[in-house]
Amino acid sequence: MRVYKFGGASVKDAAGVRNVAKIISSYSGKLVVVISAMGKTTNALEELAHFYFIEDKEGVRTKIDLVRKSHGTLIETLFQGHSLVIDLEISMMLDNLALRLSAPPSLDYDFEYDQIVSLGEILSTKIVSAYLNLIGIKNAWLDIRQVIRTDSTWREANVKWAISSELLKKQVDFNQQRIYLTQGFIGSTLSAQTTTLGREGSDYTAAILANMLDAESVTVWKDVPGIMNADPNRFEQTQKLETLSYREAAEMTYYGAKVIHPKTMKPLVEKNIPLYVKSFLAPELEGSVICKIDHVMNYVPVFISKENLVLVTISPLDFSFIAEDSISDFYRLLSTTRIKVDLVQQSAMNFSVALERPENGFDDFITQLKERFVVRYNEGLELLTIRYYTDEVIASMTKDRVVYVSQRTRTAARFLMR
Ligand code: ASP
Ligand code: MG
Repeated sequence: MRVYKFGGASVKDAAGVRNVAKIISSYSGKLVVVISAMGKTTNALEELAHFYFIEDKEGVRTKIDLVRKSHGTLIETLFQGHSLVIDLEISMMLDNLALRLSAPPSLDYDFEYDQIVSLGEILSTKIVSAYLNLIGIKNAWLDIRQVIRTDSTWREANVKWAISSELLKKQVDFNQQRIYLTQGFIGSTLSAQTTTLGREGSDYTAAILANMLDAESVTVWKDVPGIMNADPNRFEQTQKLETLSYREAAEMTYYGAKVIHPKTMKPLVEKNIPLYVKSFLAPELEGSVICKIDHVMNYVPVFISKENLVLVTISPLDFSFIAEDSISDFYRLLSTTRIKVDLVQQSAMNFSVALERPENGFDDFITQLKERFVVRYNEGLELLTIRYYTDEVIASMTKDRVVYVSQRTRTAARFLMR
């Protein structure tokens, strides 16, 4: 069996869904289809969660209306009159949400976030599943919250593998049904409260299911021809990478490449399952494949950029050196604030990290740091990582830029720049 994953861009409108149907129908084997929320729904729901939490009733209403409208339009164009049941089902879900949000929020933002934002995947999969059944592609809609059980780390939940695997095997029976269609990105706690696995987490869901079902492959269908060596929106001459090792792909995602969610690789490596990245716009083309490769590969230079980073530098309040205990205090604070570090640099009296500014809590974080350290920070920086660099490539990329930190290993050069 195979696992196919379709991201939000592939189901953003009726034409998109019809195209997804075509891709699914061209495969005649056993299939699990994982689908994200349609288009930019997750972003809209994130904003909704924010409005709910600050008790902005008008904001809440506007966002629910927006989601209602985008899904209503999709259903209307897709089903053309055969949509009574699905229409009702989707309306009821949004009515329930509105009702829920008419009560005041709890004090736990991350919890509320998961309860709201997870709805995007439920809506999109309900619609796509119903549409496929209508046009004769028989499939079963699987509620992944009844399968993927997690801890209660809201917004970045950790999967409980043993129980999830057991639940999955109970609910998926390919003798009964050839195609199962389910949600990416979401799960639930043992007490059935919805959780999410981190933004863009649907790839990870696909990998989890592939691992548990011993799939022959995973295909991630995207709006790009495969994994590129740089962002085509920014670089003129980009190249597709045909084959990548798991390690290379994992490194790229670590440095910030957006092709695949960083957690995706591990479940696949474990079972040696290849991951194909293909274009849903041109499904006949080869795409890229990530798989087990033991020999050394020759890669072209690969460019990965992360923007809007903050460089935070701490130094001791007195004239002493940066020692292990101060670093460990610093890291503890980073971890409790859930801040991710992208780069580290240390000297005698300075310890610097480049980090992603969190939505909430950054000012608090700085205030707390100031109790123990002298703190300086620079915002709005870009971290450019060049894997398989050459001197010419570096010269051209850093020309006329103010470089704050530069680091080189044998395979990667990194520049934190303004
Ligand atoms: N819909 C979720 C997001 O946009 C998950 C995903 O797309 O993978 O983050
Ligand atoms: Mg998405």
